[in-house]
Amino acid sequence: MPLSEFQLIARYFSGLATAGPAEGVLLGIGDDAAILRLPRGEDLVVSIDTLVSGVHFPASLSPRAVGHRALAVNLSDLAAMGARPMWFTLALTLPEVNEPWLEGFAAGLGQLAHRAGIALVGGDTTRGPLSITIQVHGAAAPRTALRRDGAKPGDELWVTGRPGLAALGLRVLQSGAREEEPACAAFLWPEPRVAMGRALRGLATAAIDVSDGLLADAGHIAERSGCGIEIDTACLPLEAELAALRREDALALCLTGGDDYELCFTAPAAAAEPIESAAAALGLPCRRIGRVAEGSGTQCAGFCPERTGFQHFGASTDA
Ligand code: ADP
Ligand code: MG
Repeated sequence: MPLSEFQLIARYFSGLATAGPAEGVLLGIGDDAAILRLPRGEDLVVSIDTLVSGVHFPASLSPRAVGHRALAVNLSDLAAMGARPMWFTLALTLPEVNEPWLEGFAAGLGQLAHRAGIALVGGDTTRGPLSITIQVHGAAAPRTALRRDGAKPGDELWVTGRPGLAALGLRVLQSGAREEEPACAAFLWPEPRVAMGRALRGLATAAIDVSDGLLADAGHIAERSGCGIEIDTACLPLEAELAALRREDALALCLTGGDDYELCFTAPAAAAEPIESAAAALGLPCRRIGRVAEGSGTQCAGFCPERTGFQHFGASTDA
């Protein structure tokens, strides 16, 4: 007998919470709705993301990696806001009740949830083509959240990690490599930069997480802030596996690859030292890659993109 919806939730999802009692959960999974309480005086920061099999991840991806990814991309949005992860809900559409798949999915999801200290407080389970929607809820003290619209001409542009490695990892995976291949790790196990995002409160003037490609996402900061952004290709972190590629290929992956879930942010020059020490304390590479200027759009001298990032419904992203 296949599991009923209620058995499925009880077996795989009811336990997906934090190590200790979850903060602010007055009523969790099992009722018609959850009752949650924010720390006194703090603001609620909310984001939602859907992953559709075959669109946002290869249909052959292991369930563990799918579970990790579904939460990671959402936590990355909280990271980009400098918010503290509190709770999440999970809307799961499954073609069938496949217990080995559910076990792997719940393990990947649960491990990251536990590490991030975010509690699953409810959801919905339906039958249909595989799709996973997670809504995350975070907390932020008033006026401390990082936004896209605060960049000022004269600020410097920064990026964490090694953007481009995820796109390279996907390429390696699609060429038939096994998931255990180290070169695939950056794509399979994106690490949301939650601690760095929180460290940037009061230092960064604007921030975004890099999901569509560095060039496109820096462009969102420029647009929302009403200024221009200049990226200096000579400063891009084209190390690690990217160093072995042709320079144009490495540049294209770094600037337009996407799926990195690194943080791209702006800050005044005076903030450089505390930013560098915060990154060093977290063991996270963090690099100045350009500046904010008067004007509009993103300039990147020496790079001519064929496409600037992934858009589901864009007519054309050709430059
Ligand atoms: P209702 O019919 O009242 O909407 P459901 O039968 O959809 O309730 O869900 C019962 C309980 O199980 C609710 O508390 C709901 O939040 C929770 N739930 C359902 N699906 C999931 C899921 N995929 N993950 C976590 N909780 C879930
Ligand atoms: Mg319901």
